Amino acid sequence: MTLEAAPARHTPRKRFGQNFLSAPGIVARIVAAIAPQADDHVVEIGPGLGALTQPLLAKLAHLDVVEIDRDLIARLKDDYSAAQLTIHEGDALKFDFAALGNKLRIVGNLPYNISTPLLFHLAEYAERIVDMHFMLQKEVVDRMVAQPGGGEFGRLSVMLQYRFEMERLFIVPPGAFVPAPKVDSAIVRMLPKPLESLTVKEEQTFARIVTAAFGQRRKMLRNTLRELISEADLEGLGIRPTARAEELAVGDFVAIANHLTNFRLPGEGRDPVAPL
Ligand code: SAM
Repeated sequence: MTLEAAPARHTPRKRFGQNFLSAPGIVARIVAAIAPQADDHVVEIGPGLGALTQPLLAKLAHLDVVEIDRDLIARLKDDYSAAQLTIHEGDALKFDFAALGNKLRIVGNLPYNISTPLLFHLAEYAERIVDMHFMLQKEVVDRMVAQPGGGEFGRLSVMLQYRFEMERLFIVPPGAFVPAPKVDSAIVRMLPKPLESLTVKEEQTFARIVTAAFGQRRKMLRNTLRELISEADLEGLGIRPTARAEELAVGDFVAIANHLTNFRLPGEGRDPVAPL
């Protein structure tokens, strides 16, 4: 019998948002929520020390992972066969998920320091995605699923709710991780909406309106959107010019954006153009 050296301990790296799951009960709940089937095309972001990777692979024929930390990548290569696990080394923020094909089921206990840009990056691949299950800071999940009328409803809510059905599944306390983060976490499920339900004519214009409206969220729309749409046009769309961004429904932002797409942005010195 050969004696193998025990693997060296990994020192968690703050810059990579490393809080490793170490609660078997929570891991089991997450995997049950994902409900992986053997032939599913699952992609895990940030496998780390394998807390989710291991139980996922117990159910799957194959798993793709995207990991940035070279030390962790070396461990994963030691622990799993290349036939089981395809490791994509690098930054998930720059990763081309289209290269993996279609019908992707994306999961992960995400690095919290990049969660918002990562969610926006992933949203670009929504057409290829079946569903996503993520652990995030609870506060971020609450903003994702927030409804109009409160302080949590913002750019993240509108941009993601336009593209996904989202549900907060359950809360995970700090004690489930090593090292323990300072805040609660939560699991969110994101299901891309059918393409036919997406009515924005120009995504850039939609994003511009949402960003402008929430840029100064305490101000009234007639001020934040002054450069973009007149009070009369807002009223014509059934939107009060004195309302604040957080009072609008996602559909109101779509209506404003499509109005601008149909009738060029004011201030451009051109006449309105015919609707698309
Ligand atoms: N899945 C493991 C778990 O649940 O214990 C680790 C989760 S830890 C919160 C986040 C993981 O994402 C770490 O493995 C970290 O190295 C990795 N990571 C951080 N930034 C990344 C990035 N930009 N691209 C890919 N992986 C990243």
